[in-house]
Amino acid sequence: MTTRVTIVGAGPGSADLITLRGARALASATVVLHDALIDSSLRELAPAAEWIDVGKRGFCDSTAQARINALLVQHAHAGGQVVRLKGGDPSVFGRLDEELEALASAGIACEVVPGVTAAIAAAADLKRPLTRRGAGRSVALSTAMTRAGELVATRGADTEVFYMAGRQLAALSRRLMAAGWAPETPVAVVSRAGWPDRHGSDHRVDTLPEAVVLHGGRPTVVIVGVGATALASTLSAVNEPMTMTSVPAGSKP
Ligand code: SAH
Repeated sequence: MTTRVTIVGAGPGSADLITLRGARALASATVVLHDALIDSSLRELAPAAEWIDVGKRGFCDSTAQARINALLVQHAHAGGQVVRLKGGDPSVFGRLDEELEALASAGIACEVVPGVTAAIAAAADLKRPLTRRGAGRSVALSTAMTRAGELVATRGADTEVFYMAGRQLAALSRRLMAAGWAPETPVAVVSRAGWPDRHGSDHRVDTLPEAVVLHGGRPTVVIVGVGATALASTLSAVNEPMTMTSVPAGSKP
């Protein structure tokens, strides 16, 4: 069976964060079904392909997902070389399982190409490693939202990175404390990681609500615990390309 559909992680931001393998898949695509928030200059990698925006905004709805699955199958059956281009990495909060199931049940061969997920791009932007020798042995990628739209927080790793929580930082702060994180635990918030206008800010678990005004309306990850701590050497870094907001200790939202 020849591969008809390639599911490609575009990375979280600027086009040059895609992998070479992903770029090659785009170069041979005839149809590209892409998410919202994909850098439009990725189109230059597949200029002859038909580009179809299947981006869903806000909470994913199952009708929209069913439509995407149907489009994938339809274009593959029509003989196209299809790329499904997804933000970040396809296997992280990307509903990859549903698309793989749909393709498998239609008998369509596919391949998955990884991408840089938002948490990893945020760590790079901040220059703060998610793991630290001796102190940070585990990292969890969590969504703060349940399927029912409920907010949950956990304490399952030394560093926990929350996706899809940008609109509910006040509630996340309360839930984190209820889950056992100390109020003074460092929290770093990064919005638009991997883009030229990325922005980072430093908080504590109890002062996290103050981040709302700094990142409102932008895709945001919230890093809690060891990986949120700045390295001593970068605290005084010069020529820092990323805009950082440090909220003075003790200031309350
Ligand atoms: N598959 C994607 C995640 C999709 S879920 C990935 O691997 O990155 C969408 C959530 O990802 C957003 O609500 C936000 O929490 C996060 N996100 C996506 N792009 C981001 C970016 N550039 N900066 C910060 N967070 C981002």
